[in-house]
Amino acid sequence: MMSQTTHCVPLLYSLFTALDLRNVKTCRSLRFVVGLIVLSLLCLGTSFASATGAEFRAGTARAVITPPTGLWMAGYSSRTKPAEGKLHDLYVKALAVEHRTGSRLVFVTSDLIGFPRSMSVEVAERVEKATGLPRSHLMLTASHTHCGPVLTDNLMDAYDLPPEQVPLLQKYRTELTDKLVQLVQDALADLKPATLWQGKATARFAVNRRQNSEKGFILGSNPAGPVDHDVPVLEVRDEAGKTKALVFGYACHNTTLQFFQWCGDYAGFAQHYLEERHPGVAAMFWSGCGGDANPLPRSTVELCMKYGKELADAVDAARDAGMKPVQGGFAAAYTTIPLPYGRIPDRETWAADTLSKNFSVRSRAKRYLAILESGGTIPESYPHYPIQVWKLGDDILWIALGGEVVVDYALRLKRELGSGKTVWVTAYANDVMAYIPSERVLKEGGYEGDTSMIAYGLPSKWAEGIEDRVVSTVHKLIGVVDKASGKRD
Ligand SMILES: [Zn+2]
Repeated sequence: MMSQTTHCVPLLYSLFTALDLRNVKTCRSLRFVVGLIVLSLLCLGTSFASATGAEFRAGTARAVITPPTGLWMAGYSSRTKPAEGKLHDLYVKALAVEHRTGSRLVFVTSDLIGFPRSMSVEVAERVEKATGLPRSHLMLTASHTHCGPVLTDNLMDAYDLPPEQVPLLQKYRTELTDKLVQLVQDALADLKPATLWQGKATARFAVNRRQNSEKGFILGSNPAGPVDHDVPVLEVRDEAGKTKALVFGYACHNTTLQFFQWCGDYAGFAQHYLEERHPGVAAMFWSGCGGDANPLPRSTVELCMKYGKELADAVDAARDAGMKPVQGGFAAAYTTIPLPYGRIPDRETWAADTLSKNFSVRSRAKRYLAILESGGTIPESYPHYPIQVWKLGDDILWIALGGEVVVDYALRLKRELGSGKTVWVTAYANDVMAYIPSERVLKEGGYEGDTSMIAYGLPSKWAEGIEDRVVSTVHKLIGVVDKASGKRD
């Protein structure tokens, strides 16, 4: 509302200048003056609506999802035992926002490794049935903490699980799904007049991890490599101006810790610090395109807390620097596209791989060999790669991509779309089926471009052209939301 008033100032100045009688000499001048009066009144009217919180309503909800001790932890296939306790609780949180036109969006964050498609499909369908919220208006995201639970149907061939873990993990997933459906309903039930604000700051602990070595690209440290250090912030304030939610992103693997305690990692600490500093606030973290970035150095709780504090400080710095009001309606678009695989191994290769000493190689080969031996065929593409675009007010384009997206996507999309717009690129959204390398990373190979497909259980690396397939679909969806918001306005 402040900047709306600011925008009105030049208009009012023009009005008073035009009202100078020396200028009123012709009918044309009079028409101009009348036009300015009407425009100014409209401007003041909009400011009044915003000042009373009439443009938006917002609601939040949360649920604790800390698994019991004894469940297997996600993220590292090298783990040999289950969780032994917790450093702090894990949460799912939801923010529902509604524009005065009735359009609603619900954004969900979670201290989890990443939702498999089967889970987000079930949650979205049940939410739509219970609330009428369309699929495109629900964004399900994960922080990618590696100190959360294994979610079945995700990272299919990563974990050499003891058999007794399977029913425990299935039970946890069923309960988590129920909690997510309820969470969205709770956030929608909490809708109250609100204002929305956007800002940005910087945090510098993300380091590109693709180190070029004699063995090719390895997981190491590449301080000169590309990173995205932006910390975008969405603040929700209630009618009295009190902060209700702080939604913020960062493009870096949430992998400071590799131990056996439930923990949200640096993102968990950042949310914790913000909620401690601002009592009653829902602090909600989303992961950006940090598929090829790590918090470095790492591996101690002290460093994890330090990065969490740095991120929380960045969010507060964005607020201190002055937040810009979000104004205008919402529009949302969601689609899935097939992403083709590269060359798929033949039967002999799968048969040989079933004898591998590596659990993931063996496990994946057994599944694909079984498909071939039962007369089936191996799919040539991943059929449902999800891409979502939200237009939040007049200025914010919020893009959500599935998978572990590398930084090149965020840098490219901000470059291509960022002129006069705020562009947020959330990854690990709606489905985490694999890494999503850029064309550069696919060509270079290494973990993000190639070998990570094994633990994810996909049959080969992606085919060339992946980057343009994803980016061109983002552009198409932006056309859809632009058209939708243009119609509404
Ligand atoms: Zn990862």
